[in-house]
Amino acid sequence: MVKQDKIKVKNTIVEIDGDEMTRVMWKMVKDQLLLPYLDMKLEYYDLGLKKRDETDDQITKDAANAIKKHGVGVKCATITPNKARVQEYSLKQEWKSPNGTIRAILDGTLFRGPIMVKNIPPAVRNWNKPIIIGRHAYGDVYKNKEIRVPAPGKGEITFTPQEGGQSIRLTVQDFKGPGVLQGIHNTDQSISSFAKSCFTYALDQKVDLWFSTKDTISKTYDALFRQIFEEEFKKNWEEKFKNAGITYFFTLIDDAVARIIKSEGGMLWACKNYDGDVMSDMLGSAFGSLAMMTSVLVSPGGFFEYEAAHGTVQKHYYKYLKGEKTSSNPMALIFAWTGALKKRGELDNTPDVVKFAEKLEKAAIKTVESGIMTGDLLRVARPNKKNKQVYTEDFIDAIVKNLNKKL
Ligand code: NAP
Ligand code: MG
Repeated sequence: MVKQDKIKVKNTIVEIDGDEMTRVMWKMVKDQLLLPYLDMKLEYYDLGLKKRDETDDQITKDAANAIKKHGVGVKCATITPNKARVQEYSLKQEWKSPNGTIRAILDGTLFRGPIMVKNIPPAVRNWNKPIIIGRHAYGDVYKNKEIRVPAPGKGEITFTPQEGGQSIRLTVQDFKGPGVLQGIHNTDQSISSFAKSCFTYALDQKVDLWFSTKDTISKTYDALFRQIFEEEFKKNWEEKFKNAGITYFFTLIDDAVARIIKSEGGMLWACKNYDGDVMSDMLGSAFGSLAMMTSVLVSPGGFFEYEAAHGTVQKHYYKYLKGEKTSSNPMALIFAWTGALKKRGELDNTPDVVKFAEKLEKAAIKTVESGIMTGDLLRVARPNKKNKQVYTEDFIDAIVKNLNKKL
């Protein structure tokens, strides 16, 4: 296609490149499924580990700030270095997780949702719509302090006001023998940001928002979460939800689990940190494959960053480096791009961009449903003689063919 025939994406998308096999697939997706059809303004940030090391990780902060400026970003998977990676890449230091850095700058919440195809039925039969999960990623047991209680004695918690005045002190337990003690916390500010992001994304996706805690037992801690969500809803969202035909529903965590299993899906489920940790892995595996999970970081300021939920697929990359072809799955990367394009199109009021992204999603889904799939999907797909495992290149070629039929 010549430039004037391409669909014009009006405003800038922040493109964040990454590492290993996902970096390889990133380029394939761009070259074959996007650039031939779209005239895009991309602001490119290379978050490949080498570049992060060269810039002392400044590039990660720059990328996050670029999303703040332009509103929409799309990110490839990146290596979070550990000791082995420091050696492998001769790093100056064990740089922090880029996703952690970006999340801290955008103050965002991560939402995960499955890409559903007809021939990969979810483990729960009645789930015929995606369940999006939002995990509060601050505090609770993830920022705790713990004491192994060695002997009889008093276990207490204390709050000491910075400005002076009376401390608040509670006895947790009078230990008669050895035991264990834990202190956890959260902040109004963090819970409130979480609530705002959840309401923002539920409205964005036009799905009901469910929130669950254990406030019947935790009458101050969990009750504060419930209260902040309720106040935020009443103040800023009730009208908007009503107009969009969606609801906000609070229930106890155990009741939520029981209801989710019996539901047909189609909601956004906001979870406290630990609940979200556990439930997102449960949902991930129940919906089929990690490579079919998309992820979006939504900040209360209204910025969106789209990515695949999986990592850099390191094992496949080492095969690729040896010159072997791999059957790595680019679906979640493709949907990261379509997510960003749909959001850009919506913000720019350019429906043809949204339509293109939807057609690309349909073409990708149709490819899998026709039996052409990568190895990870073949293992979980409903058995069919037509099913065939293909290499990544061939999978993308098949999507191109389906896409061209739709355009
Ligand atoms: P991973 O990259 O998600 O891969 C784990 C395994 O899941 C793979 O070995 C592969 O299984 C399967 N898999 C995941 N995505 C796939 C895809 N697109 N196509 C086919 N199979 C897929 O996790 P990891 O190997 O534990 O982590 C590798 C690196 O990714 C680490 O350095 C980690 O720091 C980073 N990471 C980054 C992010 C992010 O940027 N958001 C998230 C998680 C991890 P088989 O080997 O059985 O085929
Ligand atoms: Mg987990």
